[in-house]
Amino acid sequence: MKPFTVRLNFHRDLVFFLGRKAGVEVIERSLSEKTSVKDVVESCGVPHPEVDLILVDGQPVNFDYALERDTDIDVYPVRFTCTYSEKDRLQVRCIKRFVADGHLGKLTRTLRLLGFDVVYDRDAQDRQLLAVMKIDNRALLTRDRWLLMHKVVRHGYYPRSQDAAEQTIEVMRRFDLFFSIAPFTRCLRCNALLEKVEKGEVIEKLEPLTRIHYQQFRRCTGCGQIYWPGSHFDKLRARIEGIRAMLAAESRSENQT
Ligand SMILES: [Zn+2]
Repeated sequence: MKPFTVRLNFHRDLVFFLGRKAGVEVIERSLSEKTSVKDVVESCGVPHPEVDLILVDGQPVNFDYALERDTDIDVYPVRFTCTYSEKDRLQVRCIKRFVADGHLGKLTRTLRLLGFDVVYDRDAQDRQLLAVMKIDNRALLTRDRWLLMHKVVRHGYYPRSQDAAEQTIEVMRRFDLFFSIAPFTRCLRCNALLEKVEKGEVIEKLEPLTRIHYQQFRRCTGCGQIYWPGSHFDKLRARIEGIRAMLAAESRSENQT
């Protein structure tokens, strides 16, 4: 086969994966055999779950599209405004169930605090993460781009920031979670849902001062952990308010642009 050249234009924050800050980044690749557009995109370091639209010479294509001649390719991330319809998009936006990689413990706790369902095991191996992802149809959260490129990954996200609060906002933005927040409904330790319980049911397990000062209790339906609005609760509430403030600031700046 005669060698040919493809020019890939990576748009918006996909340039993050190329080690750039912003704008459009163009990469040229010389190929000498039929190659899927997905393989070429990933050879540039951009995991497929981050790609929502691919245009080949201006036409939307799916990941399997085979490149075999000189071609211009535009690659777009999930959140961007364009006139292409949903059917041309390659990603599902609204997902509410996740499995998080072992290095994302703080993000996991923050998402659970907001009520989101995140399976997490600090010591989980890659194959275990992928198995949970597949069985429960969860989106994979990881800062391991090679794992995100694994062929079995359907939905996933690579948090750009290293800060848990910023990562939380990123995940909420990516998966359209802004209207699904339900704070204090899920166990931070084990991810199971909390249920309201009468004080009498848990009083045996409470410290003396907690027995005196608190009336409302929730219990984890998974591990039995008891939650009440004590001093720790104030810190958690402050964390939620911090995230809400960041969300509000973000929507203000979006409205201005
Ligand atoms: Zn629990």
